[in-house]
Amino acid sequence: MRRYTPLQRAVGLLVFAVSSALAAVVSIVPSTDAELLLAKAAQLEPMTIRLEEALLPAPAAYVREDRLQRGDTYRGLLTRLAIGAADVQLLLRQPEMRLLRPGVIVTAEVRADLRAGKENEGELVWLSFLGARDTLIRIERAGQGLVASEQPAQIVTHTEMKSALIRTSLFAATDAAGIPDAVAIQLAEVFASEVDFHRELRQGDRFSVLYEMHSVEGWPLRAGKVLAAEFTNQGRKHRALRYAGNYYAPDGKNMRKALLRSPLELSRVSSGFGMRMHPLHKGWRAHQGVDYAAPAGTRVRAVGDGIVEFAGQRGGYGNLVILRHDSRHSTWYAHLKAFGRGIRTNARVAQGDAVGLVGQTGWATGPHLHYEFRVAGVARNPLSVPLPAGTPLARHEMAPFRVHVQALAGPLDLLAHHQVAALE
Ligand SMILES: [Zn+2]
Repeated sequence: MRRYTPLQRAVGLLVFAVSSALAAVVSIVPSTDAELLLAKAAQLEPMTIRLEEALLPAPAAYVREDRLQRGDTYRGLLTRLAIGAADVQLLLRQPEMRLLRPGVIVTAEVRADLRAGKENEGELVWLSFLGARDTLIRIERAGQGLVASEQPAQIVTHTEMKSALIRTSLFAATDAAGIPDAVAIQLAEVFASEVDFHRELRQGDRFSVLYEMHSVEGWPLRAGKVLAAEFTNQGRKHRALRYAGNYYAPDGKNMRKALLRSPLELSRVSSGFGMRMHPLHKGWRAHQGVDYAAPAGTRVRAVGDGIVEFAGQRGGYGNLVILRHDSRHSTWYAHLKAFGRGIRTNARVAQGDAVGLVGQTGWATGPHLHYEFRVAGVARNPLSVPLPAGTPLARHEMAPFRVHVQALAGPLDLLAHHQVAALE
């Protein structure tokens, strides 16, 4: 994805100039740029510069890239791209500029005269950015004016392989490894029946993941699906492979069980609470349930398909929802601030549906979810109770699946091996 833009070439030119003791060059570059370029010069990779190129006179055209920040103005961004005031005016009148959203990178080629006093006269050659609905917007110079075009962007998909070690939280680990949030959340979903990401993550847990990454013009656009992943939680290794739209363990067992481990979805906000023990109760035995500390208003989900057996107020539980999943299993969700849409006695719910929002109704000193898992009417520890299995891969699917597993096992093994080596 590394590209040498004309700007980098310009930086190269500057290095050449400085190293040739042509100190005068520095003074004809706008001051802030000179500092930036000099600061960058130290970490430049060596590049060959032809003498005739180095001696080319200004003005030169170069490409710059910048991002529309939140709270930014179009004018501010365009000026940072070194586009002169006259062209900024023209651009602001282009309706296509309104397709530019915060966070999106804008690339512009500008013909600039670097002599002092001419910094604000940069002439736009072209500018492009990715619009909504994955189109590429390009605005080009045409004589004295500008013309705009919008066309479907060429999206390229490739596979990324990353691994990370958990030190404080899942998101801190994915941040450190440069893994997008969407992949972190998918990982938690893929292993949602194996690992409770709010309560069971430990320092030293690690994972490797293969996922699709979509990009446009060499720029990462967004993450796609997780293709394969390995997660080592408290020394236990879990592996999942995507096949025909579902995730399976290498032996063909469905990763998606009839019930999820955690009634809380993983998010950046809720995950921050996960590694702490909630102060209200010391352990599961003390009160027959598990407490999830989470900000009031966090979505609480049904851990499995079922029927609402109760939805209303009940003593110390406050607002309570009881779901019956089958003749043996039921789950209780207490202290809710509000009930989910359509959650009333006898209503049907599907796994993942919102049963309500975290609150502190009933006997609760702070916002948290009190969660109970009952088997044949007896409260059991939801962290250790065996969960009913999901539908495994059909017999006739096993042969093609094994071929698939073989193909993905190699990269996963390699990643895991490298990671272990790096840790030792
Ligand atoms: Zn509780």
